[in-house]
Amino acid sequence: MRFDIVTIFAGFFAGIFEHGVVRRAMREGLVSIEAHDLRAFTHDRHRTVDDRPFGGGEGMVLKPEPLAEALESLGIRKKAGNRDQGSGIRDRGRGTRDVGTAVILLSAQGCLFTQSMARELAELERVVLICGRYEGVDERINQLYCDMELSIGDYVLSGGELAAAVVVDAVMRLVPGVLGNEASEEFESFGAPDAEIQADVEGVPRSQHGSGGLLDYPQYTRPAEFAGLHAPEVLLNGDHSEIRRWRREQQLRKTLLNRPELLRRAVLSAEDRTILDSLESGWRGES
Ligand code: SAM
Repeated sequence: MRFDIVTIFAGFFAGIFEHGVVRRAMREGLVSIEAHDLRAFTHDRHRTVDDRPFGGGEGMVLKPEPLAEALESLGIRKKAGNRDQGSGIRDRGRGTRDVGTAVILLSAQGCLFTQSMARELAELERVVLICGRYEGVDERINQLYCDMELSIGDYVLSGGELAAAVVVDAVMRLVPGVLGNEASEEFESFGAPDAEIQADVEGVPRSQHGSGGLLDYPQYTRPAEFAGLHAPEVLLNGDHSEIRRWRREQQLRKTLLNRPELLRRAVLSAEDRTILDSLESGWRGES
């Protein structure tokens, strides 16, 4: 899978992908990542990439011409016809572009980047990421070239580079072969429900549930006692079905505590709902 990042700070990405899973994936040729300097597509002495906003207001805006030239140099053509964005990754390019490619504008105004989007993007051959700066990017670039605007959260960054790095990291680890254990992503926070998981772990009963959109359970390692706190006994006794039950309860507890809105979309069993009811009534009793 290939990532192209268009940015005025190509140097930002110099060391950022030189660690851990990304580095290994690049070395093994599973993923390639290239940052393209937007200023290389300017034609004036000052290599100007920005200008004042029409209508007045603070700050500067990234000009359309260098961005268009940069994208065309990467083989990205304008979308034909309707210039509104598609409603998702699957609408990308409106038939005018290689179906394996998505062009994404990083923007605080974008739709929220999620694990399920990361999964969809990981099925593509190529993702092109445009990093805004200053007050943002001339909207016509979005209209003409982009399949979607993505935000990595409800806050404003000073540039799209960190957001691009987040998207690359979250997507590339889902590319087949990148994570050591193919199934491990399914068992993480926001992972797949049990019914969709075929893999069993080394022939022994699975000691974890597919998260089905919940947060992950807490993890412990040696020593069994640290600073007066003991690792939960259940994790030490080797009973996989007990461990599995405990972990599910912890997933539900964490999600209820930290991200209750996720429960609305999570895949829950009748047993899950019973656990949730008892957690909630326990907490009501405490307050
Ligand atoms: N005026 C813009 C607004 O209020 O939406 C903010 C521009 S921000 C200072 C500059 C650039 O940072 C944006 O063009 C975008 O590329 C990037 N950026 C800022 N926040 C982001 C977020 N939450 N997700 C993704 N990119 C973001």
